[in-house]
Amino acid sequence: MSTPYATAQSQLDEAAALLKLPSDVHQLLREPMLEVHVRIPVRMDDCSVKVFSGYRVQYNNARGPCKGGLRFHPEETIDTVRALAAWMTWKTAVVDIPLGGGKGGVVCNPKELSELELERLSRGYMRKIAHFIGPDLDVPAPDVYTTPQVMAWMLDEYEAITGRSGKGVITVKPLELGGSPGRHDATARGGMYTLREAANKLGLDLGQATAAIQGFGNAGMHAHELLSSLFRTTVVAVSDSKGAIYNPTGLDVKAVSEHKLARGSVAGFPGAKSISNEDLLELEVDVLVPSALENVITNENAHKIRAKVIAELANGPTSPEADQVLHERGIVVIPDFLCNAGGVTVSYFEQVQNGGMDRWKLEMIHKRLDETMTAAFNEVWETRERMQVHSRLAAYLVAVRRVAEACTLRGWVGHRC
Ligand code: NAD
Repeated sequence: MSTPYATAQSQLDEAAALLKLPSDVHQLLREPMLEVHVRIPVRMDDCSVKVFSGYRVQYNNARGPCKGGLRFHPEETIDTVRALAAWMTWKTAVVDIPLGGGKGGVVCNPKELSELELERLSRGYMRKIAHFIGPDLDVPAPDVYTTPQVMAWMLDEYEAITGRSGKGVITVKPLELGGSPGRHDATARGGMYTLREAANKLGLDLGQATAAIQGFGNAGMHAHELLSSLFRTTVVAVSDSKGAIYNPTGLDVKAVSEHKLARGSVAGFPGAKSISNEDLLELEVDVLVPSALENVITNENAHKIRAKVIAELANGPTSPEADQVLHERGIVVIPDFLCNAGGVTVSYFEQVQNGGMDRWKLEMIHKRLDETMTAAFNEVWETRERMQVHSRLAAYLVAVRRVAEACTLRGWVGHRC
């Protein structure tokens, strides 16, 4: 099976061929520009020392400082971090915010660390990478198993090392330390704005539509809330790792959330039928919102999907083969790095607020997020129609062209003799 980085490179290769990218530009965009590998000694609670491996990859900064999350995960690899850094580069470019792409990771299992060990590890990682990052260089944020509290410890360590206030060095901070309003539902909200645009193109009335959502975490739960409150869409099915529930007359988000809080899962919600996660994907609904895992729509089930639109809040839910099948069947996919770019967009707003010592009102965040996502969706849609390609490839064409142009304008590449 292909590794994530090999997948990221082959997606770029396909876009590069269609864009007829000169080979120097293509080669530059195939690899990260900078990689930092660190070893972090951490004093454990039993007084022993454990040494952890960490990475920070700055994939490309031609359009602005690198931006991307930091994961604490026992199976973290440099291959995954490189791929995620590449995808961040295309994500910031497709929504046209003035940032590049980066990603970080530490190989550890936070569930096995005490709170004090987690703090020492977070500060230790920051001590190793502090001189490579900064508001104008590279700005981390939370990702898998890292939290606003981890960001707060890292901010504090960074400021202790540099001897000055540098709030913009990290985003998704607690509000008290310069975090932005509106970040909690930004990923789902941005995705819903792109869904509204897709529905307009297709003549689909979201007020009369039905939806199914796979995953009921940050992305999926807020998607349920927003589908109901923004559009009055009837959400007929939701799921989590323990199972899926279905009620053709609709599921109330507040009641389902309360059930999940009390029981740890949406499974067993009274008044709904229990179905499998596979069945959920194949339901006859207008909108399908994968919000959990990668690789859930594949060659195996792509021909059975009955939704008209798939809004990919999860990263990588659709395999490349399935993309082609869905395209041929006329199903519109809003690709992950466009659909879920609302999170990084509001992180960017946080950087802007920090730089200007400002705090924006929530209405302003929503308005600017809507403008950004709507413009990005329409640019990708126009490219899809003009080039007659599936939506993911269209999004790549928009993003890669922007990054390639920035590299060329800087004189990094291009034939000049
Ligand atoms: P989360 O951990 O809050 O929620 C994940 C949900 O998926 C949980 O409800 C979990 O039970 C469910 N799940 C796990 N295995 C499942 C399975 N086999 N079948 C069905 N459901 C399953 O994570 P999140 O932040 O909501 O992220 C979800 C996806 O969205 C990921 O792919 C993530 O990379 C992507 N994403 C999230 C953000 C964000 O801001 N939260 C931003 C960009 C992309």
